[in-house]
Order: sequence, then C-alpha cells, then structure tokens
Amino acid sequence: MSLAALKKQLKERGLSQTGEKADLLRRLDIYAKGELHKLSDGRNACALKAGELRKELAQRGLPCDLSIESRDELLARLIDSLKQENGGSAGGDKQSGEVGGGGDGVDGGDDDMLAVDVARQVLMLGQGGDYDSLLSLAGARVSRSSPFAQLRKNYLNLARLIHPDKLSSKFNEATKAFQELVRAFEALSSPEPPPAAETGKRAKAQGPALARSNANCFRTRVFCPRCSAEWATADAGVEKYEYNFMMQGIKTFCCARCLCEFGCVTATHRCPLCSKPFEYHPNDYHRMVSCGNAKCKGEFGFWLYPVPPRVEKGLRDELKKQQEAAMKSREAAMARLQRAQRKAPSWSAEQAKKQAEKLFVRGLIDSCPRCGFEPPRSEADSDSLKMHLDGCTDARKHELHRRAVRDAEEAATKKRAREDAQGEAKNLAAWQFLGGSTESMWLLTDTQLAKQCELRGVNVEGKDRDELLAALAAATNRKALTDGGQTGASAGAGVSTGLTVDSLPSNLHSMNLRQLKSVCAAHGIKPKGTTPDEVIKELERAMYGSSEPLLLE
Ligand SMILES: [Zn+2]
Ligand SMILES: [Zn+2]
Ligand SMILES: [Zn+2]
Repeated sequence: MSLAALKKQLKERGLSQTGEKADLLRRLDIYAKGELHKLSDGRNACALKAGELRKELAQRGLPCDLSIESRDELLARLIDSLKQENGGSAGGDKQSGEVGGGGDGVDGGDDDMLAVDVARQVLMLGQGGDYDSLLSLAGARVSRSSPFAQLRKNYLNLARLIHPDKLSSKFNEATKAFQELVRAFEALSSPEPPPAAETGKRAKAQGPALARSNANCFRTRVFCPRCSAEWATADAGVEKYEYNFMMQGIKTFCCARCLCEFGCVTATHRCPLCSKPFEYHPNDYHRMVSCGNAKCKGEFGFWLYPVPPRVEKGLRDELKKQQEAAMKSREAAMARLQRAQRKAPSWSAEQAKKQAEKLFVRGLIDSCPRCGFEPPRSEADSDSLKMHLDGCTDARKHELHRRAVRDAEEAATKKRAREDAQGEAKNLAAWQFLGGSTESMWLLTDTQLAKQCELRGVNVEGKDRDELLAALAAATNRKALTDGGQTGASAGAGVSTGLTVDSLPSNLHSMNLRQLKSVCAAHGIKPKGTTPDEVIKELERAMYGSSEPLLLE
C-alpha cells in the first residue's frame, strides 16, 4: 500500500496520519481489532479522546500514562483487554498487515535460548560502548535523540526478556548483562554523558549536575490550562530561573489571571518552532525533542537558566519539607480510607437513591436527586418538596439529569487524574533535585517507588513498601560493589549505608514508627527498636559510626 493510500484510509476512519509508514500500518491494524472488540457503548476504542482512554485503562488497572507510551501503544493494550473481556470470541483478528510488536509472554525452551542470545549481545555491545545498538535490540531503532518514551519502551522490553531473576540459572553473566542494559538506558536517556552510575557513590548529595549547554534550546512558552493566559511573561515579575523549576516539575505556580494552580504536566506547552501545542514530560527537560506535529521536523531543547546558590539551597529545604508533609498526609489519607472501608455497609444504588430522596424532602439536599430541579429557598418546605418528588416522574428529565451528573463526575475524575499526575511528577522531580539517592527514596510515592523498581529490575510482586525500599537499597549496594574495584576492598568492613544529613528527614522526631522504618529500609538498615526513640538512636548511631552496623543480612 502506498503512503498516500494509507493516509487516505486513516483519514476516512478519523485517525491520526502522523508517523512512519510502519506506525500508520500498525494504527490501521489496531483500528481493525477495535472494530472486532468494541467498547461497552459500541464505539471503537480508537475514537476515544485522550482523557477517556486514560479512564478506560485506569478502570482496568492498566498503565495509562500518555507521556510515557504512545497513544497507539495504549490503544493496543486496551483493545487486548476488551478482547479478553469478550472472551476472545471473535476469531480471525490476525491482520495480514500486522507490524512489529515486542515479544510478549516469553516462556519455554526456545525463548530461553533467545533470551540468552540477547543477553550475550547486550553484554558484548555494552562492553563495546555501543549503547545505540544495544537498546535497539528490542523495538524501534533508537539513539540519544529518541523520545524518552521510546527509549523506556525498548528498555522495558529488554529488561523483561533478560532479567537475571529468569536468566541467571541459564547464563552465568546474566547480572552483568542486565547492568549493561541499565547503563545503556541511563546513558541514552540522561542529558549529558556521565550518568549518576558512573560518577561513583554520589559523593555529595548536591542534586543532578545542572551544567549543560543551551545550544538549540528555547525558553518555550507555557500557558494556563484553564484560562490559556501565558505563564511568566516579561511583565509578570517572575524570575527567569523559575522556568527551570516549572519545566523540571519541581514547582507548581498560580495563574496570574485566574489563580488556578498548575505545573508542567497540567499546563499547555507550545512548540518553539511551529507554535503548535505538544505533550511535555519533565524527563524531556534536559533532552532534545521534536514536537511530533506532522509538518514540524526540527529538534529543540529547553533553556536552562543559572540559579543563584542561595535560591537553590532554599528550594532544597522547602522541597524536602513539602515532600515530607505530603508523605505524612498520604499515609493519613490511606489510614482514613482503610477505616472507612471497614465501616462502610454494603450500600446498593437503590438504597442510596432512597436515602437521597429522603434527604431532599427534609431540605438537606439542594436539588432533586431525580431531575436536578433546585427549588427556590423560600419554597423549600417539606410539603412542597414532597409534592415535587411525587410529581417527578418525567423519564426524559431523569435521563438528562443522570447524564449531567455522570458528565460532572467524569470531568471531576479527569481533573483529579491530571492533578495526580502533576503531584507524581513533582514528587519525582523533588527527589531527583534532592540528589536522587536510594537513601532518600522514602520520600517517593508508591507509584514512583514502583517505577524505580522497574528501572532497576527489582521485582515488586508481593512486597510492601518497606520491603521494596530494602530491596532497592540492596540492589544499589550490590551495584556499587560490582561497579568500582576500590569499593571491594572495604566490602569486608560492611556495606556503606549512605546515611547523611541530606538523606534523612529534616526532623526525625516528627516521624512516627512506620515512617522511621521506611527511612531505615531505604538505607538498608533493619532496626531492632520498637519505639520511635529507639529507632532514631539506631539511625544516629549508624550515621556517626558505631562498632556494629545494623545492616540487612
Ligand atoms: Zn488561568
Ligand atoms: Zn513543532
Ligand atoms: Zn424532580
């Protein structure tokens, strides 16, 4: 099929026509599958808007981050899941034009052979320093300028295939190969060569090096997602360097016009080359990217302003306090939720409706739960309300009201999802800004913690938060030991816990026992104490030196 014919077909189906030929073929293929396995409302999943798609995926517990994976990727996943829901009934959905796709579900002897072969190649290419070819072993051909999402996808495909958990019994250099893979991913996805792994044990927790060139970089324009006013225009009195913090996702700002709070994940961004909106992810800040709009071919980066040291120091202290407070409130919310779930009676929709009607008649709900009618305050006595309810039988009005309620709920869900995404981005950015060390991972949300595990090849299944932190600490220590020869000498004396003033919370005494245990786990320490004070003593002893380091065996 010619490119023009392909584009015509896509256009007829209302699909995007951007991308390489292989992408277009794949998109058509996904559409065809979507026709076989439709959504419950009878639509093809390809017709979903971004927000709807995210919601459908989230409802099924599937990854739904459009900033990490492409829309096609997510659609394919959703349609797969629809297929399973429909019992995979409709047969013959294998299209002749099916393209690419990494090997899912590898099991059995042949696949072990494949995995060992790939691991050998990874090792060889990694030792030769050919990271481009290494990371291109799975998925599309990639290089340093590939979008972060693509690099991550290739990385995850390979990681799944050659993970030492699966391979070490068949290939005795499996761990080494995996480390090469991690190194390649870090090298290609990080802005400037030496990735954190190469610079040794992060001597000073000074945050990532900020020095990089501004060649081909722009101060891109950022707009309020609610009122579309431009953020930080020349006359707004915002310091230039605030742009760094906005784009790294470290800070959120209030719109000067409508006062809505937003950050780089929720904001609208415009391409400096073609002025069209594009999707931005904080991981792109130190990279060269293209905006993805059909006619815009160039690459660009994001301007990095020098930041006065006192501002940076102040921000670091502020961020640490903020994230500690956020961690505590997450925990409190979780506890409340668990209590509520224990207490909540099983409540049917019918019961809920009856209750709402009773509350309405008593004037405790402002609008009629059936039709949405809002009686004027003066007439809201229980007799007239009862009369309204008795006469409220117009099915069409009820349906309209139901729809309005559902739309409002959907809008609220979408808004919450965007805010959650911004919160997650800020959490990650703050942790990175504070040095990005394993020891300070206790600050991370569960979602970010799981992502770090994924990146480091730590298996998350069946582990609680503290176990994950301990596993990450152990993985980092192992890596430090295998990476640098000189560290081997001191290995007998016990593995460094990396405990520093920076890696600890600003006020240990404000933390409860659970939180302190998380802090210990992140440092690879297994506390013996059973009260906060005892655990704090242990941490202090570990930091200021002691004869018996309290380490995980
Ligand atoms: Zn605004
Ligand atoms: Zn552009
Ligand atoms: Zn009514």
